[in-house]
Order: sequence, then C-alpha cells, then structure tokens
Amino acid sequence: MSKRETLGIESMESLLSKNDDHIRKVRSINDAHYTELHHRKKAITVTYGCQMNEHDSEKLGAMLVDMGYEITKKFDDADLIIFNTCCVRENAEFKVYGNLGHVKKLKEKRPDLILAVCGCMMQQPHIVAEIKKKYKYVDLVFGTHNLHNFPALLETTLTGDGQVVEVWETEGDVIEGLKSVRKKEIKAYVNIMYGCDNFCAYCIVPYTRGRERSRKPEDIIAEITSLAENGTREVMLLGQNVNSYGKTLDQPVDFADLLLMVNDVPGIDRIRFMTSHPKDISQKLLETMATADKVCEYLHLPVQAGSNAILNKMNRKYTREQYLDIVARAKALMPDLGITTDIIMGFPNETEEDFQDTLNLVEAVGFDAAFTYLYSIRTGTPAATFENQVSEDIKHERIKRLLEKLNPSIMAKMHAQEGKVFEVLVEDYSKSSNAILMGRTRNNFTVTFEGDSALIGKLVKVKITRPKNFSLHGEVVEAEHDDH
Ligand code: SF4
Repeated sequence: MSKRETLGIESMESLLSKNDDHIRKVRSINDAHYTELHHRKKAITVTYGCQMNEHDSEKLGAMLVDMGYEITKKFDDADLIIFNTCCVRENAEFKVYGNLGHVKKLKEKRPDLILAVCGCMMQQPHIVAEIKKKYKYVDLVFGTHNLHNFPALLETTLTGDGQVVEVWETEGDVIEGLKSVRKKEIKAYVNIMYGCDNFCAYCIVPYTRGRERSRKPEDIIAEITSLAENGTREVMLLGQNVNSYGKTLDQPVDFADLLLMVNDVPGIDRIRFMTSHPKDISQKLLETMATADKVCEYLHLPVQAGSNAILNKMNRKYTREQYLDIVARAKALMPDLGITTDIIMGFPNETEEDFQDTLNLVEAVGFDAAFTYLYSIRTGTPAATFENQVSEDIKHERIKRLLEKLNPSIMAKMHAQEGKVFEVLVEDYSKSSNAILMGRTRNNFTVTFEGDSALIGKLVKVKITRPKNFSLHGEVVEAEHDDH
C-alpha cells in the first residue's frame, strides 16, 4: 500500500491541522535556538526546472518562514539546504549530483547542517536508491506528491537519527490551503492543475507528477482574489497542459470558462498561462483570448518538431498542418500575438528531411523566441528504448543550423518594433543595472527603460527606441497615476 492510500481516509482539514501541529513543533525547536544564540536559523531552497517547481519552492518557502527560518541566498549561512530537483533533462540531474558533492564539504564542517532533496527526480525509485547508497549524508528525501507533508518530515529529521526518506508513489487529491512565499508579488504563479495524461514519448513528467487533476475553479478564484487584494496585478496560470483544464472536475468548466472567471477578478490586470498543448487548443479558447480584456495576447505553444513522422513518434497527437492552422487562426484573431515555442533537436529517427521540415515550420510561423533542446535519453520513457538514436555530433550541427535560422528572424522582429508604443507592467530593476527598469508587454516582449523605483508595479507606456540583444529598449511616454 502506498503512503497515499493510507491518507485517503483523512479530510483536507485534518491534514492541514496536523500540518500546523508539525509547523508549531519545528518552530518551537527553532525558537529555542534563537533564545540561546540570538539569531534565527537560515534556510535556502535551490530550484531546478520549470515554473511548477518554482511555485513548489514558493510553498516550501512559506512553510519554512512559518517554522521560524529566515531565508538566505548563501549556502555558507544556511542551517537547512533544500534542493528542489527536476528530472526533465539530464543536465539538471547532473547539476543536482554536483551540488550534493559540493555541500558534502559543508556538512563535514557543520554536522548540524540539514540537507534535503525533493522534487521530480525523487519520484524515480532508481534515483532514491542512488541517494540512499551514495549520498548517505543527505538527511531528508521527499517527492512531489507529499510536498505538503514537509513540516512533519522535517520534524522527524530534526528530532531523530538517520536519513528520512518518504516518497509517495501516487498523486492522490489536490491539496488546497497551502500558502506560498512568492518571489514577485506583482506577478504570481497560480497552479490550476497538476500532472499530465499525455505521455509524450520523451517525457518523464506523467510518471513523476502523476495523472492530470484540475483544481476547482472556486479554489483558484479565491487564491487569485486574495493575491489581487495583496497587490498582484498579473497571474500566470500554471499546468502541464492547461488547455485540458477541467476534465477531472464534476462541473463542466473548461479552460476558456476559467479564463473568463479570472478575467472578472477585480485588481488583476493581466492573465497569462502555460503550458499549452496544441492538440487541446479549441477555437473557443482562441476567441476567449481575443475578447477577454485581461488575457494577454501571448501563447507559448511547444511544437517540438516540424515533421509529421517525428511528431507521430513523439506521440504528440497533432500534425504540422494542424499546428500551422492553430497559429493562423490565433494570428487572425490577435494580430499582435506573441508566440514562442519549444523545439527538440535530434529525436530518435530524425532524418535530414525531418530536420528540414522543422526549419520550414520555424520560418512559416515566425516565432518571437524558441527554447531549443538537444534530445537526451530519459530512463523510463518509451523513447529511451527507440532504435536509431541520433548522434551527438548531428544533434549539435542541427541545433546550430536551427539557431542560424531562428536568431536573425527574431532580431528582425525586434527591429520592427522600433517606434511603437507598448503598455508595460514594470516588474523590477533589470539584472544589469540599478538605474534601468524592466517589464513586459502584453505580448511578452521584455522591455528595459530608465526610470525610478516608484514605477515598479505600475503600468506604463513605453516607446521603443532600439532592440537590445533579444529584448527591447525604450523610454516612458506615459505613466500610470499614483492612485493605482
Ligand atoms: S504534455 Fe507531453 S511534454 Fe508536456 S508534460 Fe505532458 S507528457 Fe510531458
């Protein structure tokens, strides 16, 4: 019996109240430390992978603060280090193992340091076996399905001996009521669903994040209303495949309906979402995007490949013609639509002809940006066993040719924006300078401009003066009044 099955008899209220008990117990341990040493214990969470993982780390952050930890950005300061892992790409896994090697030295110097590893990687039994065998100094291991149980697990770790490992095999119900410490209050991530039922041949997510489950619309709206009351102006609705939202609900609500409900929340000015699966995009959704005033004209629509043979092998369930048709219909409804994509290079069996199909599709769509990846084998996925794996040399050569096609067309698009005026939601100072602010247009161009901190959180009109790398630079021509 999995841990999750034992939980089936518990109500959400009892689960959350037990959670509060564990939070209080860890807090009292940490308060005693504060009383004795006059400084709070510190914790750091290192996050790998996608926005879902970032949002999980925000939930861990809220629990850590409730348990009396201060959040730090430095390993050297930390009393608790959490690695929230991702298993989608091999590189991220190597980084986790590398970082575990690095923190081993800290643990040797400070045996009281608590090391925890969680996230998608831990949902794979062979990885947990590896951690148990080779990384015995890791104190706590847990998975994505029992993230809400972190306070109880941490309490056991702090009060007991030896490595604590608890990974639930199955996903169970959606857990409501967990708080988040959000990095950017102006923009907030909101999960609308969990898991995925699509089983793309290269992807491990359905095995690690479980089957698709949608949150109830009333829970989502309550969360967004509370965010808006606390100053959030833009929400990013998150799910592995938001277009299939609602399929697991009793009431008949689809993603377009949900967008309209979010559109009615006072105080929210912008709505974005990701990720969209092309096979589930309906005409109703595109029309809703075009008519609901707060829904931004931006679509991240992973195509992955431009060849029907490869799309079929990937189990993507759409053709290049269907993809191009969606793009044409979306652009007809929203002429200023920003569109970005993901492309995998060198999937098994990809021939030069298949690759040419991808190049042609890229040219036909005119993407604003593309996240390009070399295919890498993920143990446990169907594609890992496919014959005719493409050599690394060919993958590298193809991605180089793909970028040679993509980058000039993206830069040409950037130049075409010169002189235009965009509404920009000001997010923060840019990473490069404390005098330069940054924000995004509704169609998701990054825009930088000079201005002072009073503009952060405001909607301003910016006239574009020049492209700057893959973003735009401009000057403010109209700022929002202070009453907002
Ligand atoms: S839609 Fe495909 S690529 Fe995306 S999470 Fe699901 S299985 Fe993975």
